[in-house]
Amino acid sequence: MYRSDPILPGSAVGVLGSGQLGRMFAIAARRMGYRVHTLSPDSDTPTGQVSDVEINAPYDDLDAVRKFAADVRVVTFEFENVPAATAAAAAERAAVRPAGSVLHTTQNRLREKTFLARHGIPVTPFRPVRSVADLRTAVAELGLPAVLKTADFGYDGKGQTNLKSAADGEAAVLKSPGTEWVYEAFIDFDREVSVVAGRGSDGSFAHWGVIENAHRNHILDVSVAPAGVPPAVPREAVEIARGILEQLGVVGVLCVEFFLTRAGKLLVNELAPRPHNSGHLTIDASLTSQFEQQLRAVCGLPLGDTRLLRPAAMANLLGDEWRHGEPTWPAALAIGQVKLHLYGKADPRPGRKMGHLTAVADTGAEAEKLARAARAALVPVPRG
Ligand code: AMP
Repeated sequence: MYRSDPILPGSAVGVLGSGQLGRMFAIAARRMGYRVHTLSPDSDTPTGQVSDVEINAPYDDLDAVRKFAADVRVVTFEFENVPAATAAAAAERAAVRPAGSVLHTTQNRLREKTFLARHGIPVTPFRPVRSVADLRTAVAELGLPAVLKTADFGYDGKGQTNLKSAADGEAAVLKSPGTEWVYEAFIDFDREVSVVAGRGSDGSFAHWGVIENAHRNHILDVSVAPAGVPPAVPREAVEIARGILEQLGVVGVLCVEFFLTRAGKLLVNELAPRPHNSGHLTIDASLTSQFEQQLRAVCGLPLGDTRLLRPAAMANLLGDEWRHGEPTWPAALAIGQVKLHLYGKADPRPGRKMGHLTAVADTGAEAEKLARAARAALVPVPRG
């Protein structure tokens, strides 16, 4: 059995998953003197490149998972679709934080929404759909337009279809028999916001306030903190987030994504039981980043101060920026308040998150202008 808290600097910590979230976690952990091990089916990964040990094994190789866990004091994850059996195997040899039960609830949209609704948390109206008959019922009860989402393994708009008619939905359901779907009312929102928060094993709680998010093609594009919302909104959003972290028993970091309706009502869209793309700006704008907080929480250390030191904005860099060649980094860096983060990914496919730019300024609006200007300055240099 594993020893109890706190897990001190010098110890090894493990990350399941090997993308950019694990990379930024590993950088925070190594800065504080921890050793980092990562396990995923890939090699030369964003996380592996900055870790002490990179294990290349499929998630269902439970012997490899047990061995990985036996070499570290705590296992966390950066990818919430880690199978339940993987989390359970890791838990035989090390503390797993957040617990596998948190993963289980949040890796399926239906389970997540049902959990939230059961705890009285306002969610986007939804219905489960497993057949064309269910779809027709959902259309009759929630109306159109709507969004049809696969219940499993959805992120960045993958597995989502906007429905204008019942026929659109019927076609989608018939095309993938056996799939479980969530039918959601289309929310004509005023804006999208998120709250990223950390919770310690002692129940302590810390958040970064409300961050405003703009999406493009269902993928986060730009985040701004603090969000330009009326003062009652942050209070309510943070209380909702606090309730969710408590009800789920999260030890770690979790992000709550909301729609703010035109009537000023907050509806939870989805949860991510880990640091979130909208919280990347905390690296440059807060004393404690979301990644350091994840480390502190899972190691049983006191949570760090989360106050925003400066208003900030983040602009994602997708593979599309590389379509004509390597982007002109010096042009973006010519703006001194802009910071460049690249994730070490070799293959810049369209839609793939390759990095981000963060800008800090006196106001969120000014920071957003700088981040967007820096990104616009990235005129790709033609190859050859
Ligand atoms: P999701 O993967 O559920 O976070 O969806 C990605 C993005 O699609 C959201 O951030 C919204 O911009 C949009 N979206 C998803 N669901 C809805 C909805 N029910 N109504 C309106 N827009 C939505």
